Amino acid sequence: MAQLGGQGQQGQPILILPEGTSRLLGRDAQRMNIMAGKVLAETIRTTLGPKGMDKMLVDSLGDIVVTNDGVTILKEMDIEHPAAKMLVEVAKTQEDEVGDGTTTAVVIAGELLKKAEDLLEQDVHPTIISMGYRRAAAKAQEILNEIAIDRNDRDTLLEVAITAMTGKGTEKARQPLAELIVSAVKQVEEDGEVDKDHINIHRIQGATVEDSQIVNGVVIDKGRLDPSMPKKVQDAKIALLKYPVEVKSLETDAKIKLTDPNQMQAFIEQEEAMIKDMVDKILATGANVLFCQKGIDDLAQHYLAREGVFAVKRVRKSDIERLEKATGANLATNIEDLKPEDLGEAGMVYEKKIFDEVLIFVEECHDPKAVSIILRGSTKHVAEEVERAVDDAIGVVSATVEDGKVVAGGGAAEMAISKGLRDYADTISGREQLAVAAFADALEIIPKTLAENAGLDSIDTLVDIRAAQENSPYMGINIFEGKVTNMKVSRVIEPHRVKKQAIQSAAEAAEMILRIDDMIASTKAREPDMEGMPPGMGGMGGMPPMM
Ligand code: ADP
Ligand code: MG
Repeated sequence: MAQLGGQGQQGQPILILPEGTSRLLGRDAQRMNIMAGKVLAETIRTTLGPKGMDKMLVDSLGDIVVTNDGVTILKEMDIEHPAAKMLVEVAKTQEDEVGDGTTTAVVIAGELLKKAEDLLEQDVHPTIISMGYRRAAAKAQEILNEIAIDRNDRDTLLEVAITAMTGKGTEKARQPLAELIVSAVKQVEEDGEVDKDHINIHRIQGATVEDSQIVNGVVIDKGRLDPSMPKKVQDAKIALLKYPVEVKSLETDAKIKLTDPNQMQAFIEQEEAMIKDMVDKILATGANVLFCQKGIDDLAQHYLAREGVFAVKRVRKSDIERLEKATGANLATNIEDLKPEDLGEAGMVYEKKIFDEVLIFVEECHDPKAVSIILRGSTKHVAEEVERAVDDAIGVVSATVEDGKVVAGGGAAEMAISKGLRDYADTISGREQLAVAAFADALEIIPKTLAENAGLDSIDTLVDIRAAQENSPYMGINIFEGKVTNMKVSRVIEPHRVKKQAIQSAAEAAEMILRIDDMIASTKAREPDMEGMPPGMGGMGGMPPMM
């Protein structure tokens, strides 16, 4: 019986948890959690690196996602096991902080758990292991700082973007896409910082990835209000309005009693006059383009069209923010507040249909701090996967612009840290030394997996890298040449932040999982839906009830 409680006076068991609560204790809890983490890491391990395979995920509605992106796989998998969920969080954090390295983070975490299991078998206490891991993680960061290279020139940014996109369905178009991405990131950079929300990606099916383009301004997936409005406005003077251009409708229950038909006429005329007045105020500022976050009345639409204004209603808040950033316009919360100096500028505003989508382009902005990328891809699934690759690339380029630090890829950084940690382990006494050494071993999983996924012999690869690292910490496995090379020369480089975050969060998650020696699960927890799970994942559902 694994119930939390004791014996009462008459030998009656005292239960302090509801009946049916399941509980795992000590080694059982650890074994289950380590197993769950390992299975999860094992599942996405095959996608790591340029030659990693893709996964096809089918949701309950039959929608398909084909991807190589760690965090996307984990999000789509709908994982139930609590410890496995903690690793999913590792991937999500990685995605939020850097936008790349999600598979790496989870694979390292899984390997740390696996090495910990070996130590547990040797009767090393979990507390000792987690303390050792913590020291190792701190030392790993020191070593990573030492081997980092201070660089963020344009070539470096291109290399970082290309490394992130390698093997992600962008093959032919990697170079032109990298150029687009680097230009976009450099364009929106302000005081050394990049807000990724200011780069908007529009994915449009049709054509090929090479036809993707950057727009120095904003693209909005809407059409103009009325076909009689101009389709194109040159030298646009842009007004942004947060206020509806309509007479406020009366509150639901209000009634007006009209006693005479003339009153009705007067009432309508008055409304018309109010609308006319609103439009006149907008026109008086000199605006020839209007983006309104709220509605625009039919009559206002008519007046605006007559004056040749290009107007758009119900524009999304995020688009309005980008319009402010790109055109220099100030959003007016009230028509009265709209002044000529609040208008933004763009060389051209026009409507255009691409494939089957009507879009508005606000282009030729002067030094815009928001830009758009139009991504093309022959089919929906291709375009989606390209978008994920581009997202990763925007993340790594931004991180490199901000930090100005890169490290060598292809497992080089992991191997250099591993080597440094082994030296460090020798300086530590007691059993913690074993944990530090285990941490060092665990990092080798990255080059090992890169090699395995490319069909290379993983043992030979590790031996070769180890030997080559005696001379340089930049030696890693070059997947395309199938041999160990200097990654700086082979241009396989990644932002320092990707590795920093991956090692940090992998270590923290492993530590946290190891410290759990008691799992108490309430029966209210949803039963795992075994049918919806991919084969092999079945055992990962919630905890089995314990009796
Ligand atoms: P993650 O989700 O962790 O970013 P990826 O599938 O994107 O996983 O793989 C990233 C790994 O691939 C990194 O370790 C990176 O250094 C490595 N990599 C990228 N390009 C090459 C290459 N040409 N040769 C060897 N390794 C590469
Ligand atoms: Mg990646």
